[in-house]
Amino acid sequence: MHTYDSLKAREQKLLMQTYGRYPLAIQKAEGSRLTDFEGREYVDLLAGIAVANLGHGRPELAEAMAEQALKLVHVSNLFYQEEQLDLAEKLLATCLADRVFFCNSGAEANEGAIKLARRYTQIVKKKKAYEILTLQGSFHGRTLATVAATGQGGRLVEGFDPLPAGFTTVPFGDAKALEASVSEITCAVMIEMVQGEGGVRPLSQDYLEAIKDICHHYGLLLIVDEIQTGLGRTGRFWAHEHYGLKPDIFTSAKGLANGLPMGAILATEEVSRGFEPGCHATTFGGGGVLSVVASRTIDILLDEKLSERAERVGSLARARFRGIMAAHPTKVAEVRGLGLMIGIELTSPGKKVWEALLHKGFILNLTQERVLRLLPPLTIAEEDIEAFACILDEVLTSWNA
Ligand SMILES: *Cc1c(COP(=O)(O)O)cnc(C)c1O
Repeated sequence: MHTYDSLKAREQKLLMQTYGRYPLAIQKAEGSRLTDFEGREYVDLLAGIAVANLGHGRPELAEAMAEQALKLVHVSNLFYQEEQLDLAEKLLATCLADRVFFCNSGAEANEGAIKLARRYTQIVKKKKAYEILTLQGSFHGRTLATVAATGQGGRLVEGFDPLPAGFTTVPFGDAKALEASVSEITCAVMIEMVQGEGGVRPLSQDYLEAIKDICHHYGLLLIVDEIQTGLGRTGRFWAHEHYGLKPDIFTSAKGLANGLPMGAILATEEVSRGFEPGCHATTFGGGGVLSVVASRTIDILLDEKLSERAERVGSLARARFRGIMAAHPTKVAEVRGLGLMIGIELTSPGKKVWEALLHKGFILNLTQERVLRLLPPLTIAEEDIEAFACILDEVLTSWNA
């Protein structure tokens, strides 16, 4: 029996069946290449879902990890930790936020951001408001509060009643509907600058300006979920920079430690007053190993100018894909995105296209049934994108949409 078949059988017997997995098991990864158990190589256009922004198997990170692991792995947040503070300085230097809280995942960062927004509003501003407005098609995580915040139904929420109260989803792209939903119980608006799971949908500048005005007018906090869009992904260090925005609170995770689990809540000095000793905590957040790896990740992102690279390579890629769209007008509906966060929307459900691409050795994601989502390492070679474009053209030619 092949290793793949035996792993699949063991998974089905041992693990809770929460994932629709790809028909693939990966043995090793380097740069933008994944290798399966039969030694077959794939071009990675997914980076572990926007996580391995620097590419896989970076020796600098492995060394930092090993060195710190021999020195100190975990003592808890009962102690002052040098590695965590070094990371905080580096991270805060990349943005306009003043303070940070470290945690372990995206959902945990968003959960904390929601708590911070509510607590700031209720304790500092002494306002009895708690409701968070979110956008349809958003994705904010899988904890109870973050699925309630997520503007999608179906499997995400089915059977998990009662969900926490205080979340209202409004139609995407409709500032009037957002404003109409604001009431005296509203405390914040939570958005992604480019919806990821929702199908790679960037907010327009006009829409964002309208959201900003609404927040300003009604005294609401603006929370930006940068979990997928942060760390250079969209061609800026943070996607909100494209829009000239200073969020009250924003969250990070995915690429923050290039593969180790780490999240962060970042906020202004003012809003950070919402948290006081004892009101929020996490055991593992900002531990030594995670912190040194995240610090090195930020160094490398900046040294190698990977945001700039994402901007340049991403715009070349989108132009190339638009050429493919022009050649297949009945099969490709739209090419969109920012930097190396790219969506190619097909005119009908694209499982067959996705499978054919996988079969040809290209790993990417299919979201919302018809959007091919590319989130490659920011270090991806232009030749890999070109090779993908040629194969996509070929696959689309033989696909009966
Ligand atoms: C992945 C993601 C999350 C959830 O992060 P987890 O680490 O899986 O909890 C939240 N928001 C966005 C935009 C994401 O892409």
